[in-house]
Amino acid sequence: MSFSILGLDAKILQAVTEAGYTEPTPIQSAAIPPIIAGHDLIGIAQTGTGKTAAFTLPMLTKLAQLPPGSRRGTKVLVLAPTRELVVQIEENIRAYAKHLPLTVATVFGGVGEHPQIRALRSGTDVVVACPGRLLDLMGQRAADFSQLKYLVLDEADRMLDMGFLPSIRRIVQQLPKVRQTLMFSATLSKEIESLTHEFQRAPKIIQIGRRANPAETVTQFVYEVPKHLKPALLLHLLNDPKMEMVLVFSRMKHAADRVARQLEQKGIRCATLHSNRSQNQRLKALKDFKSGAVRVLVATDIAARGIDVDGISHVINYDFPMHVEDYIHRIGRTGRANAIGDAISFVTNEDHSELRALERFIGRGIVRKKAEGFNYTAAAPAYNPAEEDSRLTRGHQQHRQQRPARPQSSGPSRHPQSGGPSRPQSSGQSRWRR
Ligand code: AMP
Repeated sequence: MSFSILGLDAKILQAVTEAGYTEPTPIQSAAIPPIIAGHDLIGIAQTGTGKTAAFTLPMLTKLAQLPPGSRRGTKVLVLAPTRELVVQIEENIRAYAKHLPLTVATVFGGVGEHPQIRALRSGTDVVVACPGRLLDLMGQRAADFSQLKYLVLDEADRMLDMGFLPSIRRIVQQLPKVRQTLMFSATLSKEIESLTHEFQRAPKIIQIGRRANPAETVTQFVYEVPKHLKPALLLHLLNDPKMEMVLVFSRMKHAADRVARQLEQKGIRCATLHSNRSQNQRLKALKDFKSGAVRVLVATDIAARGIDVDGISHVINYDFPMHVEDYIHRIGRTGRANAIGDAISFVTNEDHSELRALERFIGRGIVRKKAEGFNYTAAAPAYNPAEEDSRLTRGHQQHRQQRPARPQSSGPSRHPQSGGPSRPQSSGQSRWRR
């Protein structure tokens, strides 16, 4: 199928061609026509399926078709759970709207309010925002949504997980009742269904098969390793030149910092991504990683959720993930653009029950491997493992009690083929089974 039959504006089609897209992904073919026809829509699709363009392209088409004298003011509001996702959506919108005279602003916490307030007050056409900060700024009367026509709730399930529902409700209460509302979510849970009743009118439901499950397409290995040797094993693996672009996952923020410090001490430059870092630090970390200025990014699950970086050669689960969905998301970061990707999980004695639960979930065993040339018997920790162990254990227990909320790069890049077998996933199913 070609983009040209979907009813998109000619200038948007031109931008799509310039982005290198030759044909729409399944969610785009299914969602674009009903959105242009004015329907509310709920799209069940994951990141990586092309869902951002699925809602952006038709909305921009509708903005482009507004009569020239239409009143100024924000027409489109996109709500998304994390700053990274907000920036990613904004970059996509800018790329697709590059031949149109439209303005876009982003709103998220962790950076100064004033530029955001100025942008909102100028009546920017499209606002992409995290709910918390937007609500703050609406409280300061910075936003005028009286002309709003389109509301998008992206990653609605994640916004619910993160406790944003009360903020979203208060925002939506202040929007015009007559509007088109689009909602995207990775799963269609009861909570999402009740959200559609609350915010939408007779929505069309589009469910797109999951991308090929990374658990089936990415080469995965488990390295069993005593906890105190994890830093040395990581260093050993990173010395292999095939480890070109490596995303290392740790469970805790402080552990991510420590791992990065240890690597830097051994001359491996790396960046870190976690929620204690400022917005500018997070953006710089992603930029350095994408540009190849550093080849290792150490991240926590929350911060790395949904980031769209092409070309990651390896994912290393330095700490074994606590939830099956975290594992699937982590390893889905590699092999995304059909590159050959390897996912390596360090497994200590404490992780065996989680490993078994994961294997049950994905329906097969993961190959155990020994790292070639690594001395498993020599206790070679150049770092202070005792400190790491006790802090990790303490942190781990805390973490287990209060499962954190989760969250997400650059403009449009080449898309890993979407489609793949449909595998509806309830939220219960996606947790570890014990
Ligand atoms: P998303 O699911 O919105 O995060 O998109 C994932 C990636 O696919 C992004 O890098 C997009 O730029 C890219 N993409 C979106 N639509 C297409 C398309 N029709 N053809 C090729 N790549 C695409």
